[in-house]
Amino acid sequence: MQYNRCGNSGIKLSAISLGLWHNFGDVDTPSNFREILLTAFDSGITHIDLANNYGPPPGSAEENFGKILATDLKAYRDELIISTKAGYTMWDGPYGDWGSKKYLVSSLDQSLKRMGIPYVDIFYHHRPDPETPLEETMAALDLIVRQGKALYVGISNYKAEEAAKAIKILNELGTPCLIHQPKYSMFERSPEDGLLDLLGKEKVGCIPFSPLAQGLLTNKYLHGIPSNSRAARPTGFLQTNAITPERLNQIVKLNEIASSRDQSLAQMALAWVLKNKSVTSVLVGASSAAQLKDSIKTLDHLAFDEHELHQIEEILKA
Ligand code: NDP
Repeated sequence: MQYNRCGNSGIKLSAISLGLWHNFGDVDTPSNFREILLTAFDSGITHIDLANNYGPPPGSAEENFGKILATDLKAYRDELIISTKAGYTMWDGPYGDWGSKKYLVSSLDQSLKRMGIPYVDIFYHHRPDPETPLEETMAALDLIVRQGKALYVGISNYKAEEAAKAIKILNELGTPCLIHQPKYSMFERSPEDGLLDLLGKEKVGCIPFSPLAQGLLTNKYLHGIPSNSRAARPTGFLQTNAITPERLNQIVKLNEIASSRDQSLAQMALAWVLKNKSVTSVLVGASSAAQLKDSIKTLDHLAFDEHELHQIEEILKA
């Protein structure tokens, strides 16, 4: 494993981190997710990413992670960076959503109980709240660190301008923003509109999520929609209508470039995200230990030449 410094902090993160959004809920198979998690740890992945609402049902990924942490990984808590988040709908009524101090503090208390730990390493505000003053949300993050319930804080899904304001407020409060978690992949380029530059300039870490576009940027859908794929599942956000003929054409062509690099498409897609200097780590999901092992092999071939990058841009423009 390769470890990269996270912004201007004392923390280094594994270049590949594991997210438990899918495949770790009560609807999933415990022996499978245990194998994925232990494969991650044994491969040197130190960072595990959660959120209050991961499951389904919401909260079950934290509970299931907590069970493995209390048993197989019991001796290794201090070798792990565990993150969780609050910002999306979690419980009924006006206090279980968005960005109030009330929601963030009580949600983290619930997450800690579910995972069975006294603190997380990183606590994120999961998405910007258009109504709550940013000062209140950032003060809640600062409070949580001062209470000892998180060591560091981060923000997710904030656009460049919103992120700049949040980073400034957190600096003034004395709890610097450790990291930003944006959606970034060959198919999602919006962070290139100022966010990646901002994070580099402010020395804030960056950990893109869905770097494989939820599985589109892999060999998974080359020959149709497999029944064991995320797109075929009744729950989740990847719909079959995302796999248009135009998309598939791009995937096929990208796969050819990956083959010419002796890589799987997943490996090339991860290397492509990691090439940006602002990126600290890529946050992958996996539905099997074999997928995760494939993704980790990305680190064997990270470099691109100009010709490859040009070819990729031409395919993505089409
Ligand atoms: P990815 O883009 O990495 O997609 C993961 C999916 O891709 C897997 O479930 C699997 O699909 C497929 N896959 C993974 N590796 C391979 C491989 N080597 N070969 C073939 N197929 C592969 O990421 P996610 O969308 O899962 O997001 C990763 C993490 O990011 C989440 O778990 C979460 O922690 C975080 N996240 C954060 C969000 C936020 O708002 N902050 C939002 C979304 C995610 P299949 O299941 O079909 O086999």
